[in-house]
Amino acid sequence: MPTKAYAATSKTAPVGPFTIERREPRANDVEIAIQYCGVCHSDLHQVRDEWGNAMYPMVPGHEIVGKVTRVGAGVKRFKVGDRVAVGCLVDSCRECSACKAGLEQYCEKGMIGTYNSYEADGKTVTYGGSSEKIVAREEFVLSVSDKLDPARTAPLLCAGITTYSPLRHANVGKGQRVGVVGLGGLGHMGVKFARAFGAEVTVFTTSAKKRADAIALGAHEVTISTDADAMSKQAGRFDFILDTVSAPHDYDVLVNALKRDGRMTLVGAPPTPAQITGFGLILQRRSIGGSLIGGLPETQEMLDFCAKHEIVSDVEVIPIQEINRAYERMLKGDVKYRFVIDLASLR
Ligand SMILES: [Zn+2]
Ligand SMILES: [Zn+2]
Repeated sequence: MPTKAYAATSKTAPVGPFTIERREPRANDVEIAIQYCGVCHSDLHQVRDEWGNAMYPMVPGHEIVGKVTRVGAGVKRFKVGDRVAVGCLVDSCRECSACKAGLEQYCEKGMIGTYNSYEADGKTVTYGGSSEKIVAREEFVLSVSDKLDPARTAPLLCAGITTYSPLRHANVGKGQRVGVVGLGGLGHMGVKFARAFGAEVTVFTTSAKKRADAIALGAHEVTISTDADAMSKQAGRFDFILDTVSAPHDYDVLVNALKRDGRMTLVGAPPTPAQITGFGLILQRRSIGGSLIGGLPETQEMLDFCAKHEIVSDVEVIPIQEINRAYERMLKGDVKYRFVIDLASLR
C-alpha cells in the first residue's frame, strides 16, 4: 500500500515528504491510522546517522497513537475504531527467555525497532510513525484508554515507559527519596511517575530557571547539580536516582547523593565513556545500572496506570511540515517537554 510519510533520504538532508510501502495486513496484523507521533531525541540521532547504523530512506517516530482501521482474520484483542499505540518495537523473536518474560526489549536475538530495523525476514526495513498509517503485529500493539488525550499520550510510548520501567524495577514508593537528573522529555515524565508512586522527589538540574517548572510538575525540591555546596548537603540521602541526561556530566557527585545500598539507573547515554570513582560505590555498597524502555506487558501496565492517575506528557503539537525546525529547537532544549506531530497535517 503506498503510504504518505516524511523521510530522511541521507544524513544531511532535511526530513521531507516521501511515499513508502506498507504491507497489507496479515492474519495477525493491525492496521492503524496514525493520529499523533512524538518526537524523541533518538529520532534526531538516527536521521543524522549519529549512531552509525542509519538506513535511508528513514521514516522516524516511535511514539505512535492512532485508531485501528483494519484487522487481520486472526486478531483477537482489537477491532476497527479502537484507540491504540505502538512504541519503540514492532517485533522480536517471541521465543527467547527475555521475550517469554515479557521483556521483548532485551530479546536475545535483538528486538525489531519500529523504524530503521530489519523485519524478521531480514530484508524489509521498518518505517516509523511520521506517516499516515502503520501495520504491526497484534502482540506489539497497545490499548489506549479513551480517557487519555491522544496527543499527550504519544510520548508515553518512549519517554514514559523509559522512566516508568526503572522506577518500578527499583520498587520506588512511599517513604523513599528519589532523584531525577535532567528535566527534559524523559525527566519530566520521571518526576510525574516518581511522584505518583508516592516518593519524595528531587530534581537535579544545571539550570536554576527550571526550578518553578520542576515544582509544578510534582517535584518537592530542586538542586542545582553543579553547585558543590548544594550537592554536599544532598550526600547520602537518596534511595534511587534516575539519570536521564545524555550529555557528558559528573556521575560521582550523584552517586555520592545515594544512601547505603542506593542505586542510580541511567536512561540517557552520553556519547563518550564516563569516569566513575570506585570508592563512591564501594564505601556505601551503592550501584549504577541502566535500563532500556520496557516490554509489552509493562508498557500496557503503564498506559493503564496513566489512565487511572490522569498522567500524560506536557507537549507542543506541531504539523509535520515543522519537523526540521522542531529538531533544531529540541537541540537547544527549547521545548516543554515533547514535540508531538499531528498527522492530520500529512493527509
Ligand atoms: Zn524514543
Ligand atoms: Zn526474543
